[in-house]
Amino acid sequence: MGLSDIIARIDAATAGAGRAPGSVQLVAVSKVQPPDRVEAVLQAGQRVFGENRVQEAAGRWPEFQARFDGVTLHLIGPLQTNKARQAVEMFDVIQTLDRPKLATALARLAEERGTSPDVFVQVNTGAEPQKAGILPKDTDAFVAEVRALGLPVVGLMCIPPVDEEASLHFALLAKMAERNGLTGLSMGMSADFEQAIAFGATHVRVGSALFGDRAYT
Ligand SMILES: *Cc1c(COP(=O)(O)O)cnc(C)c1O
Repeated sequence: MGLSDIIARIDAATAGAGRAPGSVQLVAVSKVQPPDRVEAVLQAGQRVFGENRVQEAAGRWPEFQARFDGVTLHLIGPLQTNKARQAVEMFDVIQTLDRPKLATALARLAEERGTSPDVFVQVNTGAEPQKAGILPKDTDAFVAEVRALGLPVVGLMCIPPVDEEASLHFALLAKMAERNGLTGLSMGMSADFEQAIAFGATHVRVGSALFGDRAYT
């Protein structure tokens, strides 16, 4: 599906939910996609991209950014503390703040550099043992801790369990964001971004529907 089709679907879902035009940002998830597909989406005008690995992003985005103005990069995958420096140098937004140790590392870097990427706290809404993220019951306290460290926390992010009704998780995340005074909601992927928009998503992370299937080797 082309960029204009995805944008049309986002716009229709936004209007259908009675929300303001332009209140949902498309994060084009380019991880693993071949450079020619990424370039085509850049040529079509998209400027906000999501990558899930620092190394992979470092390997190709500097070159794209030299050729295309105004690119914004979101980190949407797990961040190891020892890659935090490289991550803050490259990403405008880190969507996967998921533990106190990482918050401390990011705060130290923010202080040293005098600037910080915006951060989303990743919430493990399904409390899945294998999945990253703060548990729902710990989220309020963690958000307070991140704020106390001075990090610019702008919202919450979740990846619902594959075998559950996603809208329950979207509703839970929206409720938690609201009670913490956070306006950003990163939720919804290729299969369910319209549903996420109905529940208040401000950022939808769309990969395969936009670029085609990822060919893992
Ligand atoms: C890969 C990925 C996506 C995109 O998934 P699609 O189903 O291809 O749209 C979104 N969010 C995260 C965190 C991802 O890792």
